[in-house]
Amino acid sequence: MTRGNDPAQYRTLRVALLGAGAVGSQVASLLLRHGDELADRAGARLELAGIAVRDLDAARDVELPRELLTTDAENLILGSDIVIELMGGIEPARTQLLAALNSGADVVTANKALLATHGPELFDAADRVGASVHYEAAAAGAIPIIRPLRDSLAGDRVVRIMGIVNGTTNYILDRMDTEGADFDDVLADAQRLGYAEADPTADVEGYDAAQKAAILASLAFHTTVPLETVHREGITGISAGMIQQASDAGYVIKLLAVCERITVDSVESISVRVYPALVARSHPLASVHGANNAVFVEAEAAGSLMFYGAGAGGVQTASAVLGDVVSAARRHIAGGVGVGESTRANLPIVPIAHVTTRYQITLEVEDQPGVLARVAGILSEGDVSVATVVQSAEGEGTARLVIGTHRATEAALSATVERLAASDVVDRVIAVLRVEGE
Ligand code: NAP
Repeated sequence: MTRGNDPAQYRTLRVALLGAGAVGSQVASLLLRHGDELADRAGARLELAGIAVRDLDAARDVELPRELLTTDAENLILGSDIVIELMGGIEPARTQLLAALNSGADVVTANKALLATHGPELFDAADRVGASVHYEAAAAGAIPIIRPLRDSLAGDRVVRIMGIVNGTTNYILDRMDTEGADFDDVLADAQRLGYAEADPTADVEGYDAAQKAAILASLAFHTTVPLETVHREGITGISAGMIQQASDAGYVIKLLAVCERITVDSVESISVRVYPALVARSHPLASVHGANNAVFVEAEAAGSLMFYGAGAGGVQTASAVLGDVVSAARRHIAGGVGVGESTRANLPIVPIAHVTTRYQITLEVEDQPGVLARVAGILSEGDVSVATVVQSAEGEGTARLVIGTHRATEAALSATVERLAASDVVDRVIAVLRVEGE
Protein backbone atom coordinates (compact mmCIF):
# COMPACT_ATOMS: atom_id res chain seq x y z
CA MET A 1 0.00 0.00 0.00
CA THR A 2 1.36 3.43 -0.85
CA ARG A 3 1.26 6.37 1.45
CA GLY A 4 -0.52 9.07 -0.45
CA ASN A 5 -2.94 11.84 0.15
CA ASP A 6 -6.36 11.77 -1.37
CA PRO A 7 -7.03 15.35 -2.50
CA ALA A 8 -10.75 14.83 -2.08
CA GLN A 9 -10.23 14.21 1.63
CA TYR A 10 -8.17 17.35 2.26
CA ARG A 11 -9.39 19.73 4.89
CA THR A 12 -9.35 23.37 3.87
CA LEU A 13 -7.36 25.73 6.05
CA ARG A 14 -8.12 29.42 5.98
CA VAL A 15 -4.99 31.53 5.47
CA ALA A 16 -4.91 35.27 6.19
CA LEU A 17 -2.05 37.31 4.70
CA LEU A 18 -1.16 40.65 6.28
CA GLY A 19 0.91 42.72 3.82
CA ALA A 20 1.41 42.55 0.04
CA GLY A 21 4.72 44.34 -0.41
CA ALA A 22 8.01 42.90 -1.72
CA VAL A 23 7.55 39.59 0.13
CA GLY A 24 3.79 39.44 0.73
CA SER A 25 2.84 39.88 -2.94
CA GLN A 26 5.15 36.97 -3.88
CA VAL A 27 3.74 34.78 -1.10
CA ALA A 28 0.20 35.49 -2.34
CA SER A 29 1.16 34.74 -5.92
CA LEU A 30 2.84 31.41 -5.01
CA LEU A 31 -0.07 30.37 -2.78
CA LEU A 32 -2.51 31.02 -5.63
CA ARG A 33 -0.37 29.46 -8.39
CA HIS A 34 0.90 26.38 -6.56
CA GLY A 35 -2.24 25.52 -4.61
CA ASP A 36 -2.37 21.84 -5.62
CA GLU A 37 1.30 21.13 -4.90
CA LEU A 38 1.15 22.94 -1.58
CA ALA A 39 -2.00 20.99 -0.67
CA ASP A 40 -0.17 17.71 -1.31
CA ARG A 41 2.78 18.76 0.81
CA ALA A 42 0.74 20.22 3.64
CA GLY A 43 -2.01 17.58 3.59
CA ALA A 44 -4.54 20.40 3.55
CA ARG A 45 -5.92 22.85 1.03
CA LEU A 46 -4.62 26.35 1.79
CA GLU A 47 -7.32 28.85 1.00
CA LEU A 48 -6.05 32.44 0.79
CA ALA A 49 -8.97 34.13 2.53
CA GLY A 50 -7.74 37.69 2.06
CA ILE A 51 -4.77 40.05 1.99
CA ALA A 52 -4.62 43.03 4.34
CA VAL A 53 -2.93 46.17 2.98
CA ARG A 54 -2.95 49.90 3.78
CA ASP A 55 -3.79 51.15 0.30
CA LEU A 56 -6.12 49.12 -1.92
CA ASP A 57 -4.93 51.02 -5.01
CA ALA A 58 -1.16 50.83 -4.46
CA ALA A 59 0.93 49.38 -7.29
CA ARG A 60 1.95 45.75 -6.57
CA ASP A 61 4.99 43.76 -7.72
CA VAL A 62 2.62 41.05 -9.01
CA GLU A 63 -1.01 41.27 -10.01
CA LEU A 64 -3.31 40.06 -7.23
CA PRO A 65 -7.08 39.44 -7.37
CA ARG A 66 -8.63 42.72 -6.29
CA GLU A 67 -11.40 40.97 -4.32
CA LEU A 68 -8.83 39.47 -1.94
CA LEU A 69 -7.47 42.87 -0.85
CA THR A 70 -8.84 44.46 2.31
CA THR A 71 -7.88 47.20 4.74
CA ASP A 72 -9.66 45.37 7.59
CA ALA A 73 -6.91 43.12 9.00
CA GLU A 74 -8.75 42.50 12.31
CA ASN A 75 -11.76 41.03 10.56
CA LEU A 76 -9.61 38.97 8.19
CA ILE A 77 -7.76 37.36 11.12
CA LEU A 78 -11.02 36.20 12.74
CA GLY A 79 -11.59 32.52 12.03
CA SER A 80 -8.27 32.03 10.25
CA ASP A 81 -6.23 28.88 10.83
CA ILE A 82 -2.92 30.40 9.71
CA VAL A 83 -1.98 34.09 9.78
CA ILE A 84 1.04 35.25 7.75
CA GLU A 85 2.40 38.62 8.83
CA LEU A 86 4.51 40.45 6.22
CA MET A 87 3.82 44.08 7.09
CA GLY A 88 6.97 44.72 9.14
CA GLY A 89 7.28 47.12 12.09
CA ILE A 90 6.11 46.59 15.65
CA GLU A 91 2.52 47.82 15.55
CA PRO A 92 -0.06 46.82 14.44
CA ALA A 93 1.86 43.56 13.72
CA ARG A 94 2.30 42.72 17.41
CA THR A 95 -1.34 43.28 18.40
CA GLN A 96 -2.67 41.45 15.36
CA LEU A 97 -0.40 38.43 15.82
CA LEU A 98 -1.32 38.19 19.51
CA ALA A 99 -5.00 38.29 18.50
CA ALA A 100 -4.34 35.54 15.93
CA LEU A 101 -2.50 33.34 18.46
CA ASN A 102 -5.13 33.90 21.15
CA SER A 103 -7.75 32.66 18.70
CA GLY A 104 -5.71 29.45 18.19
CA ALA A 105 -4.25 30.30 14.77
CA ASP A 106 -0.69 29.35 13.88
CA VAL A 107 1.42 32.30 12.90
CA VAL A 108 4.12 32.82 10.26
CA THR A 109 6.17 36.01 10.24
CA ALA A 110 9.37 37.38 8.68
CA ASN A 111 9.44 40.32 11.09
CA LYS A 112 12.89 40.34 12.76
CA ALA A 113 12.27 43.71 14.45
CA LEU A 114 9.14 42.34 16.16
CA LEU A 115 10.73 38.99 17.12
CA ALA A 116 13.90 40.60 18.50
CA THR A 117 11.88 42.91 20.75
CA HIS A 118 8.63 41.02 21.51
CA GLY A 119 9.51 37.40 20.66
CA PRO A 120 8.94 36.04 24.20
CA GLU A 121 5.49 37.68 24.37
CA LEU A 122 4.48 35.98 21.11
CA PHE A 123 5.98 32.61 22.13
CA ASP A 124 4.16 32.72 25.49
CA ALA A 125 0.87 33.50 23.76
CA ALA A 126 1.45 30.57 21.40
CA ASP A 127 2.33 28.24 24.32
CA ARG A 128 -0.88 29.12 26.16
CA VAL A 129 -3.02 27.77 23.31
CA GLY A 130 -0.60 25.16 21.91
CA ALA A 131 -0.17 27.07 18.64
CA SER A 132 3.16 27.78 16.96
CA VAL A 133 5.13 30.76 15.68
CA HIS A 134 7.21 30.14 12.54
CA TYR A 135 9.85 32.65 11.44
CA GLU A 136 12.34 31.05 9.04
CA ALA A 137 12.48 34.24 6.92
CA ALA A 138 13.29 36.54 9.86
CA ALA A 139 17.03 35.80 9.77
CA ALA A 140 19.03 35.45 6.55
CA GLY A 141 15.99 35.52 4.19
CA ALA A 142 15.79 32.42 2.02
CA ILE A 143 18.54 30.52 3.86
CA PRO A 144 17.20 27.70 6.05
CA ILE A 145 18.85 28.47 9.39
CA ILE A 146 16.02 28.73 11.94
CA ARG A 147 14.84 25.15 11.43
CA PRO A 148 18.37 23.70 11.45
CA LEU A 149 19.05 25.47 14.77
CA ARG A 150 15.68 24.60 16.28
CA ASP A 151 15.27 21.03 14.99
CA SER A 152 18.31 19.52 13.24
CA LEU A 153 20.81 20.64 15.90
CA ALA A 154 18.44 20.20 18.86
CA GLY A 155 20.50 17.22 20.04
CA ASP A 156 23.84 18.98 19.75
CA ARG A 157 25.47 21.90 21.58
CA VAL A 158 26.13 24.95 19.43
CA VAL A 159 29.42 26.57 20.41
CA ARG A 160 29.56 29.52 18.05
CA ILE A 161 27.68 31.16 15.19
CA MET A 162 29.39 33.63 12.88
CA GLY A 163 27.03 35.11 10.36
CA ILE A 164 27.04 37.57 7.51
CA VAL A 165 23.35 38.37 7.98
CA ASN A 166 23.03 41.77 6.32
CA GLY A 167 23.26 41.82 2.52
CA THR A 168 23.56 45.60 2.16
CA THR A 169 26.71 45.86 4.27
CA ASN A 170 28.23 42.80 2.64
CA TYR A 171 27.59 44.34 -0.78
CA ILE A 172 29.30 47.58 0.32
CA LEU A 173 32.32 45.90 1.97
CA ASP A 174 32.72 43.47 -0.92
CA ARG A 175 32.83 46.27 -3.50
CA MET A 176 35.25 48.25 -1.33
CA ASP A 177 37.44 45.13 -1.21
CA THR A 178 37.32 44.23 -4.89
CA GLU A 179 37.41 47.78 -6.35
CA GLY A 180 39.27 49.78 -3.71
CA ALA A 181 36.27 52.13 -3.65
CA ASP A 182 35.30 54.49 -0.80
CA PHE A 183 32.41 53.74 1.58
CA ASP A 184 30.36 56.83 0.58
CA ASP A 185 30.66 56.14 -3.15
CA VAL A 186 29.62 52.49 -2.83
CA LEU A 187 26.75 53.38 -0.47
CA ALA A 188 25.42 55.93 -2.99
CA ASP A 189 25.64 53.27 -5.72
CA ALA A 190 23.93 50.69 -3.50
CA GLN A 191 21.07 53.15 -2.90
CA ARG A 192 20.73 53.81 -6.64
CA LEU A 193 20.60 50.05 -7.35
CA GLY A 194 18.07 49.37 -4.59
CA TYR A 195 20.45 47.37 -2.35
CA ALA A 196 20.34 50.06 0.34
CA GLU A 197 17.42 52.11 1.68
CA ALA A 198 17.30 55.92 1.32
CA ASP A 199 17.95 55.94 5.09
CA PRO A 200 20.63 53.25 5.39
CA THR A 201 21.06 53.53 9.19
CA ALA A 202 19.47 50.17 10.09
CA ASP A 203 21.89 48.36 7.79
CA VAL A 204 25.17 50.30 8.00
CA GLU A 205 24.98 50.87 11.76
CA GLY A 206 24.35 47.16 12.38
CA TYR A 207 20.82 47.42 13.87
CA ASP A 208 19.36 44.92 11.38
CA ALA A 209 22.21 42.46 12.00
CA ALA A 210 21.81 42.88 15.78
CA GLN A 211 18.12 41.89 15.56
CA LYS A 212 19.05 38.76 13.62
CA ALA A 213 21.88 37.98 16.04
CA ALA A 214 19.43 38.15 18.97
CA ILE A 215 17.08 35.73 17.17
CA LEU A 216 19.84 33.26 16.23
CA ALA A 217 21.50 33.34 19.66
CA SER A 218 18.18 32.77 21.47
CA LEU A 219 17.61 29.64 19.39
CA ALA A 220 21.18 28.35 19.45
CA PHE A 221 21.69 28.73 23.20
CA HIS A 222 18.12 28.09 24.40
CA THR A 223 18.21 31.42 26.20
CA THR A 224 16.16 34.58 25.70
CA VAL A 225 18.56 37.20 24.31
CA PRO A 226 17.11 40.73 24.67
CA LEU A 227 18.12 43.04 21.83
CA GLU A 228 19.73 45.53 24.23
CA THR A 229 22.27 42.89 25.33
CA VAL A 230 23.66 42.61 21.78
CA HIS A 231 26.85 44.66 21.39
CA ARG A 232 26.58 46.55 18.09
CA GLU A 233 29.00 48.47 15.88
CA GLY A 234 28.41 49.41 12.24
CA ILE A 235 30.66 49.83 9.20
CA THR A 236 30.61 53.62 8.69
CA GLY A 237 34.15 53.91 10.14
CA ILE A 238 35.63 51.44 7.64
CA SER A 239 37.82 53.26 5.11
CA ALA A 240 39.31 52.16 1.80
CA GLY A 241 42.70 52.28 3.55
CA MET A 242 41.59 49.83 6.25
CA ILE A 243 40.28 47.44 3.60
CA GLN A 244 43.56 47.67 1.67
CA GLN A 245 45.60 47.06 4.80
CA ALA A 246 43.43 44.08 5.73
CA SER A 247 43.92 42.71 2.24
CA ASP A 248 47.71 43.17 2.44
CA ALA A 249 47.68 41.10 5.65
CA GLY A 250 45.58 38.31 4.06
CA TYR A 251 42.23 39.36 5.50
CA VAL A 252 38.88 40.67 4.34
CA ILE A 253 36.63 42.90 6.49
CA LYS A 254 33.09 41.54 7.05
CA LEU A 255 30.26 42.78 9.26
CA LEU A 256 29.79 39.72 11.48
CA ALA A 257 27.09 38.67 13.90
CA VAL A 258 28.95 36.53 16.44
CA CYS A 259 27.03 34.45 18.98
CA GLU A 260 29.36 32.52 21.24
CA ARG A 261 29.30 30.23 24.27
CA ILE A 262 32.07 31.43 26.62
CA THR A 263 33.12 30.69 30.18
CA VAL A 264 33.63 33.72 32.44
CA ASP A 265 34.78 33.15 36.04
CA SER A 266 33.91 29.44 35.65
CA VAL A 267 30.32 30.35 34.69
CA GLU A 268 29.02 29.16 31.33
CA SER A 269 27.78 32.29 29.56
CA ILE A 270 27.08 33.66 26.11
CA SER A 271 28.24 36.69 24.15
CA VAL A 272 26.27 38.18 21.26
CA ARG A 273 27.86 40.92 19.20
CA VAL A 274 27.83 42.61 15.81
CA TYR A 275 30.88 44.40 14.46
CA PRO A 276 33.15 44.65 11.45
CA ALA A 277 35.96 42.12 11.85
CA LEU A 278 38.94 40.75 9.97
CA VAL A 279 38.32 37.31 8.48
CA ALA A 280 41.18 35.34 6.91
CA ARG A 281 40.82 34.98 3.14
CA SER A 282 40.94 31.20 3.60
CA HIS A 283 37.82 31.20 5.86
CA PRO A 284 34.58 30.16 4.10
CA LEU A 285 32.91 33.46 5.15
CA ALA A 286 35.56 35.44 3.22
CA SER A 287 34.17 34.14 -0.07
CA VAL A 288 30.63 35.41 0.55
CA HIS A 289 30.30 38.09 -2.12
CA GLY A 290 27.77 40.73 -3.11
CA ALA A 291 24.52 40.94 -1.16
CA ASN A 292 24.61 37.25 -0.18
CA ASN A 293 24.35 36.03 3.39
CA ALA A 294 26.00 33.09 5.12
CA VAL A 295 25.83 31.60 8.57
CA PHE A 296 28.75 29.54 9.87
CA VAL A 297 27.74 27.31 12.78
CA GLU A 298 30.15 25.37 15.00
CA ALA A 299 28.58 22.65 17.12
CA GLU A 300 30.26 20.24 19.53
CA ALA A 301 29.32 17.04 17.71
CA ALA A 302 28.46 18.21 14.20
CA GLY A 303 31.58 20.34 13.77
CA SER A 304 31.47 23.23 11.29
CA LEU A 305 28.42 23.82 9.09
CA MET A 306 27.91 26.63 6.59
CA PHE A 307 24.53 27.88 5.35
CA TYR A 308 24.75 30.18 2.33
CA GLY A 309 22.42 31.99 -0.06
CA ALA A 310 20.12 34.93 -0.65
CA GLY A 311 19.49 36.89 2.53
CA ALA A 312 16.75 39.04 1.05
CA GLY A 313 14.62 39.55 -2.05
CA GLY A 314 10.85 39.25 -2.37
CA VAL A 315 10.52 35.88 -4.07
CA GLN A 316 13.55 34.35 -2.30
CA THR A 317 12.16 35.30 1.10
CA ALA A 318 8.72 34.07 0.05
CA SER A 319 10.23 30.58 -0.34
CA ALA A 320 11.13 30.51 3.38
CA VAL A 321 7.69 31.91 4.31
CA LEU A 322 5.88 29.21 2.32
CA GLY A 323 7.98 26.48 3.95
CA ASP A 324 6.72 27.82 7.27
CA VAL A 325 3.13 27.89 6.00
CA VAL A 326 3.39 24.18 5.09
CA SER A 327 4.81 23.39 8.56
CA ALA A 328 2.04 25.38 10.22
CA ALA A 329 -0.58 23.59 8.13
CA ARG A 330 0.83 20.17 9.04
CA ARG A 331 0.61 21.01 12.74
CA HIS A 332 -2.90 22.28 12.34
CA ILE A 333 -3.93 19.03 10.65
CA ALA A 334 -2.06 16.77 13.08
CA GLY A 335 -3.30 18.70 16.11
CA GLY A 336 -1.38 18.64 19.35
CA VAL A 337 0.92 21.26 20.74
CA GLY A 338 3.19 23.20 18.36
CA VAL A 339 6.97 23.22 18.78
CA GLY A 340 7.66 25.82 21.45
CA GLU A 341 10.77 27.89 21.98
CA SER A 342 13.23 26.31 24.40
CA THR A 343 14.76 28.98 26.63
CA ARG A 344 15.39 26.75 29.64
CA ALA A 345 19.19 27.08 29.56
CA ASN A 346 18.82 30.71 30.65
CA LEU A 347 22.54 31.43 30.31
CA PRO A 348 23.92 34.80 31.46
CA ILE A 349 24.77 37.19 28.62
CA VAL A 350 28.12 38.86 29.24
CA PRO A 351 29.11 42.38 28.20
CA ILE A 352 31.71 42.85 25.46
CA ALA A 353 34.46 43.63 28.02
CA HIS A 354 34.67 39.88 28.85
CA VAL A 355 35.05 38.73 25.26
CA THR A 356 38.43 37.43 24.13
CA THR A 357 39.61 37.78 20.53
CA ARG A 358 42.72 38.59 18.57
CA TYR A 359 43.17 42.17 17.37
CA GLN A 360 44.94 44.14 14.70
CA ILE A 361 46.02 47.58 15.90
CA THR A 362 47.26 50.15 13.38
CA LEU A 363 49.24 53.09 14.75
CA GLU A 364 50.93 56.14 13.29
CA VAL A 365 54.12 56.62 15.33
CA GLU A 366 57.21 58.78 15.33
CA ASP A 367 59.91 57.24 13.18
CA GLN A 368 62.63 57.16 15.85
CA PRO A 369 64.78 54.51 17.53
CA GLY A 370 63.16 53.06 20.66
CA VAL A 371 59.56 53.73 19.61
CA LEU A 372 58.81 50.10 18.85
CA ALA A 373 60.19 49.07 22.27
CA ARG A 374 57.97 51.69 23.99
CA VAL A 375 54.87 50.50 22.15
CA ALA A 376 55.71 46.85 22.94
CA GLY A 377 56.19 47.82 26.60
CA ILE A 378 52.74 49.47 26.85
CA LEU A 379 51.12 46.43 25.24
CA SER A 380 52.85 44.02 27.58
CA GLU A 381 52.00 46.09 30.68
CA GLY A 382 48.36 45.94 29.53
CA ASP A 383 48.42 42.11 29.22
CA VAL A 384 48.18 42.28 25.45
CA SER A 385 50.75 39.98 23.89
CA VAL A 386 52.13 40.78 20.43
CA ALA A 387 52.05 38.12 17.69
CA THR A 388 53.21 40.12 14.64
CA VAL A 389 54.49 43.62 13.86
CA VAL A 390 54.81 45.17 10.43
CA GLN A 391 56.47 48.60 10.21
CA SER A 392 56.39 50.82 7.15
CA ALA A 393 57.46 54.40 6.47
CA GLU A 394 54.42 56.66 6.49
CA GLY A 395 55.74 60.15 5.71
CA GLU A 396 58.31 62.66 6.91
CA GLY A 397 59.41 61.43 10.37
CA THR A 398 56.44 59.11 10.85
CA ALA A 399 55.98 55.36 10.51
CA ARG A 400 53.00 53.02 10.49
CA LEU A 401 52.90 50.04 12.81
CA VAL A 402 50.46 47.21 12.18
CA ILE A 403 50.39 45.03 15.29
CA GLY A 404 48.68 41.65 15.38
CA THR A 405 47.97 40.50 18.94
CA HIS A 406 47.42 37.15 20.57
CA ARG A 407 44.04 36.65 22.25
CA ALA A 408 43.24 39.34 24.81
CA THR A 409 40.09 40.45 26.57
CA GLU A 410 38.25 43.44 25.18
CA ALA A 411 38.69 45.18 28.55
CA ALA A 412 42.49 44.75 28.48
CA LEU A 413 42.68 45.76 24.84
CA SER A 414 40.63 48.95 25.12
CA ALA A 415 42.51 50.11 28.24
CA THR A 416 45.81 49.45 26.43
CA VAL A 417 44.71 51.29 23.27
CA GLU A 418 43.80 54.30 25.45
CA ARG A 419 47.30 54.25 26.95
CA LEU A 420 48.86 53.96 23.49
CA ALA A 421 46.80 56.91 22.23
CA ALA A 422 47.94 59.00 25.22
CA SER A 423 51.64 58.11 24.89
CA ASP A 424 54.06 60.62 23.39
CA VAL A 425 55.40 58.17 20.75
CA VAL A 426 52.01 57.44 19.16
CA ASP A 427 50.69 60.21 16.89
CA ARG A 428 47.42 58.50 16.06
CA VAL A 429 45.54 55.22 16.52
CA ILE A 430 44.46 54.61 12.93
CA ALA A 431 42.36 51.49 13.48
CA VAL A 432 41.61 48.69 15.92
CA LEU A 433 39.88 45.67 14.42
CA ARG A 434 39.04 42.29 15.91
CA VAL A 435 40.11 39.13 14.11
CA GLU A 436 37.42 36.41 14.03
CA GLY A 437 37.37 32.81 12.87
CA GLU A 438 40.91 31.88 13.96
P1 NAP B 1 7.07 46.15 2.25
O1 NAP B 1 7.46 45.95 0.82
O2 NAP B 1 7.25 47.48 2.86
O3 NAP B 1 5.51 45.74 2.37
C1 NAP B 1 4.76 45.95 3.52
C2 NAP B 1 3.31 45.58 3.22
O4 NAP B 1 2.56 45.65 4.43
C3 NAP B 1 2.63 46.52 2.22
O5 NAP B 1 1.81 45.79 1.36
C4 NAP B 1 1.78 47.43 3.11
O6 NAP B 1 0.56 47.85 2.52
C5 NAP B 1 1.42 46.47 4.24
N1 NAP B 1 1.17 47.18 5.49
C6 NAP B 1 2.03 47.94 6.21
N2 NAP B 1 1.44 48.42 7.32
C7 NAP B 1 0.18 47.95 7.29
C8 NAP B 1 -0.95 48.12 8.14
N3 NAP B 1 -0.87 48.86 9.22
N4 NAP B 1 -2.10 47.48 7.82
C9 NAP B 1 -2.19 46.73 6.68
N5 NAP B 1 -1.15 46.55 5.84
C10 NAP B 1 0.00 47.17 6.14
O7 NAP B 1 7.80 45.08 3.19
P2 NAP B 1 8.58 43.75 2.77
O8 NAP B 1 9.91 44.10 2.20
O9 NAP B 1 7.68 42.86 1.97
O10 NAP B 1 8.88 43.11 4.20
C11 NAP B 1 7.87 42.47 4.96
C12 NAP B 1 8.50 41.80 6.17
O11 NAP B 1 9.44 40.83 5.72
C13 NAP B 1 9.28 42.75 7.08
O12 NAP B 1 9.14 42.36 8.42
C14 NAP B 1 10.73 42.55 6.64
O13 NAP B 1 11.66 42.82 7.67
C15 NAP B 1 10.71 41.08 6.31
N6 NAP B 1 11.73 40.65 5.35
C16 NAP B 1 11.83 41.26 4.15
C17 NAP B 1 12.80 40.85 3.26
C18 NAP B 1 12.93 41.49 1.91
O14 NAP B 1 13.81 41.08 1.14
N7 NAP B 1 12.12 42.45 1.54
C19 NAP B 1 13.68 39.81 3.62
C20 NAP B 1 13.54 39.18 4.87
C21 NAP B 1 12.55 39.61 5.73
P3 NAP B 1 0.53 48.85 1.23
O15 NAP B 1 1.15 48.03 0.13
O16 NAP B 1 -0.89 49.12 0.99
O17 NAP B 1 1.35 50.04 1.60
